[in-house]
Amino acid sequence: MDRHVTSTADLRLRLRHAGLRVTRPRVAVLGAMASLPHADTDAIIGAVRRELPAVSHQAVYDCLRAFTDAGLVRRIQPLGSVARYEARVGDNHHHVVCRSCGAIADVDCAVGETPCLTASDAGGFEIDEAEVIYWGRCPDCAAAHA
Ligand SMILES: [Zn+2]
Ligand SMILES: [Zn+2]
Repeated sequence: MDRHVTSTADLRLRLRHAGLRVTRPRVAVLGAMASLPHADTDAIIGAVRRELPAVSHQAVYDCLRAFTDAGLVRRIQPLGSVARYEARVGDNHHHVVCRSCGAIADVDCAVGETPCLTASDAGGFEIDEAEVIYWGRCPDCAAAHA
């Protein structure tokens, strides 16, 4: 069995577990995200339209908002980038961003359990997440520069 293939049944189950009604656009959007980590809205719309050609921009936006609100999807927006979405949630992972081309990759939590960075003074806040962005150059850009 190819573990990278996300079945429709699996997608429907994830929607139901998140308390969301199962609709064709929602299944298509979630399915597209499985193969497009850190995709922006345009990339997601393009992928969804290969399956559902008539789907509107608004329908995809609505799906992304519902997914984000339900915690099914995480929205990230590094400085200078448009909003990007990913279906890898709940593990408090971080991101590394290429300054040259904007490529984004996942970085596992630095140490231990969430939040992996303990604030020296939380100012009375109950912290449940630490978001870190590492900036640098991706392998391709570093090679092109060398
Ligand atoms: Zn790069
Ligand atoms: Zn990520």
